[in-house]
Amino acid sequence: MQVKDKNANVVAIIGGGFSGTMVAYHLLRQSDKPLQITIFEPRTTLGLGLAYSTPCPDHLLNVPAAGMSAFVDQPLHFLYHAQTLDDRNTPETFVSRRQFGQYINGLFEAALREQVGHSFEHRTQTVVDIERRDGRYALQLADGVAYDTDVVVLATGNLSGRPFRWAQAFADDARYLHDPWQSGAIEAIDTNSDVLLLGTGLTAVDKLIELHNQQHRGRIWATSRHGLLPFAHVERWVGIKDERDWDDLDGPLGTLRGALRQLRSRALRNMVQDKEAWRPVFDGCRANTQIWWQGLELLEQKRFMRHLRTYYDVHRHRMAPRIDHVVQEMRRDGRLQIIAGRVMGAHDNGGKIAVQLQPRHGGDSIELQLDCIINCTGPQGNVEAVEQPLFRNLIAGGLASKNAMGSSLLVQANGCVGTFDDGFYAIGPLLQSQLLESVAVPELRVQATNVAQAILRRFD
Ligand SMILES: Cc1cc2nc3c(=O)[nH]c(=O)nc-3n(C[C@H](O)[C@H](O)[C@H](O)COP(=O)(O)OP(=O)(O)OC[C@H]3O[C@@H](n4cnc5c(N)ncnc54)[C@H](O)[C@@H]3O)c2cc1C
Repeated sequence: MQVKDKNANVVAIIGGGFSGTMVAYHLLRQSDKPLQITIFEPRTTLGLGLAYSTPCPDHLLNVPAAGMSAFVDQPLHFLYHAQTLDDRNTPETFVSRRQFGQYINGLFEAALREQVGHSFEHRTQTVVDIERRDGRYALQLADGVAYDTDVVVLATGNLSGRPFRWAQAFADDARYLHDPWQSGAIEAIDTNSDVLLLGTGLTAVDKLIELHNQQHRGRIWATSRHGLLPFAHVERWVGIKDERDWDDLDGPLGTLRGALRQLRSRALRNMVQDKEAWRPVFDGCRANTQIWWQGLELLEQKRFMRHLRTYYDVHRHRMAPRIDHVVQEMRRDGRLQIIAGRVMGAHDNGGKIAVQLQPRHGGDSIELQLDCIINCTGPQGNVEAVEQPLFRNLIAGGLASKNAMGSSLLVQANGCVGTFDDGFYAIGPLLQSQLLESVAVPELRVQATNVAQAILRRFD
């Protein structure tokens, strides 16, 4: 039962990954008024979320240690922590994601131990709906219990989508793995089985690493519309940014075509010396990406999402060099084949699942006979296509509306859900279509600070 401390303002944070946990951290550290904070998070450990709860030590960060501090004003905070774990860690080291999760959890636990005057609770419950009642918010939990609060923070992060229509027939079939993060699921795959990964992004790469680690001997195919794997970091360019002139956002850079032209010409200029030197150019414009994106016309944003997003993502979210070596080795020795194409259908073929694929660049369709299919399509960006009901309920109830892109909630760049500050905030991947860059720690640590400050101002 919810017992409200009469003097305390109530803050409910939905989601206890990096974003939600860091908002709670800042509130505990900075509020001089008593707060009653609850994080609703089904995972038992806070701070990990989807990305950092993996037990696999070879799932590495895709950002070097010097870029992963939890704090905007202490950029090397994580690096120093990582060096206490292993003094061989340098600013360029790609540390394991598990260690990063432990770092965030450790920060939060320390803030909790040292706080005075607040109350905190972690409820391992999913929130399914929110209503506005008498100037406050009523959360509806999956177990039917209600929870009243003054402020809500949506920090629900990377959401999974529903199975493709063709895969729905296999929803309860052990050979189709819809949730690739389900504990023990990859270990249960027979090492001689033929496997199809749906997707060729970082989720697929994680699953390849796990299959490699358990000495998988069967054939592996990975397919996506473009058939593009993420590029890799190369050691000599890790952490180096070419930031020349990117703050000049007027003129041709303000359009999609202008920005692409600039990016391309700078990259090509650098590549005359070193063909890998497009990376610092790409990383150098990141500090301005959000401003540039918000200045683009809606039509241009939609065009980017439709035609360029995949190419942007494979250049932007790169794999650690060590991971790339493993993936390339699997391709070279024939264990892994990548197919650019579209799945047209699938049927049960005795012990196997037969999948029909239409290659992207024409030619006859391909039929694969598979023992196992793993959904690696990654997070779903369209809030109405996600598995969980919260977002559909929020839109149906009128508490949130869809943004102009039509795929996400209307959230202001400052995190307010809706058009003004009503004590209802969102943080993290939910803001991706508003900001473009709203997924990785370097952006999320800024948002966590800003949302916590907006809440503190509200209670002032
Ligand atoms: C596999 C993977 C690897 C990544 N690697 C990196 C990296 O190396 N570096 C980097 O900077 N970024 C990386 N990212 C990006 C990552 O999104 C962010 O770094 C960060 O973890 C996002 O945190 P979050 O709290 O916003 O979301 P999440 O980590 O997704 O956490 C959201 C939490 O909300 C909970 N939740 C969702 N809905 C509800 C509900 N209705 N009720 C209650 N709880 C709910 C979920 O259980 C989840 O734990 C990676 C992402 C993924 C998926």
